[in-house]
Amino acid sequence: MSSIFLPPPIQKINSEIATNAGVNLYILRLDLMHPQINGNKWFKLKYNLAAAKEKNFSTILTFGGAYSNHIYATAAAGNLFGFRTIGIIRGEENIPLNSTLQFAVAQGMQLVYINRQTYKQRHTEKLQTQLQQQFGEVFIIPEGGCNLNGMRGCIEILATIKEFNTVCLACGTGTTLAGMTLSLNQNQKMIGFPVLKGGNFLQEDINNLLKNYLASDLPKPVNSPAPWELICNYHFGGYAKINNELKLFCQNFQEQHDIPLDYVYTGKMFYGVMDLITQGYFQSESLLLVHTGGLQGNIGFTN
Ligand SMILES: *Cc1c(COP(=O)(O)O)cnc(C)c1O
Repeated sequence: MSSIFLPPPIQKINSEIATNAGVNLYILRLDLMHPQINGNKWFKLKYNLAAAKEKNFSTILTFGGAYSNHIYATAAAGNLFGFRTIGIIRGEENIPLNSTLQFAVAQGMQLVYINRQTYKQRHTEKLQTQLQQQFGEVFIIPEGGCNLNGMRGCIEILATIKEFNTVCLACGTGTTLAGMTLSLNQNQKMIGFPVLKGGNFLQEDINNLLKNYLASDLPKPVNSPAPWELICNYHFGGYAKINNELKLFCQNFQEQHDIPLDYVYTGKMFYGVMDLITQGYFQSESLLLVHTGGLQGNIGFTN
């Protein structure tokens, strides 16, 4: 199943700000692993799809917003690996479909819209049972692939990468960060940059994920969780909120380094890291910044 994916390249970022601070900056390009199923979303899907296959399900049902990277990746992965897919989309249908949803439909995904009130119950047994009744034998993957199987895949992101002091990552639910902490050594550290406002709540969520993972019957990781921390003040007003400063930062970054950043996740993390370097927060370190993909979502910000 993994053979169609390219190993993610690590590139050095030549930045004067970083050089002056004695910081070596590297980027891990998960966005280049596959044209459609890229970034952290593939890692979160991998063991969910394996579980679905093992239990003989032929249909995957999952959830997302109208620009969701997870919906996009699930539609493509379903098509590629022979699953029917159903996407439960938050809110009303807008015609014409945006390019995320057009892509999902072209990959064979059936889209079903539910109102925002009902969507809030996506994690409840009640709604999931109702969906099972409506759509038959479906394997349900939570929004964003954020469960223990999703976390399991994320343990593999840094599998072959050892030589960095600090790994920086944008966080939505923290599932990716939780998984990645299980592949680092104790003398390494992870810094998560929540893209939601008030991201401190992730502290508890990540601790719970780690606790539940270690208590589960999934394969035990070789390492215990490496130290990690959250830096919560680079959310730019909240999820999918951006301003001109962030947009300009991403555009300049792409011009200088020929690396496109997504505005919702990786752009905010990069902005935060560069700002912190300027402030002297990092000294004489090697930082690995993880590009988690999501570039398809930039179409939501064309004006
Ligand atoms: C979903 C997503 C994230 C966040 O992953 P979590 O595991 O929810 O923290 C980060 N970056 C991109 C590009 C994403 O699509």
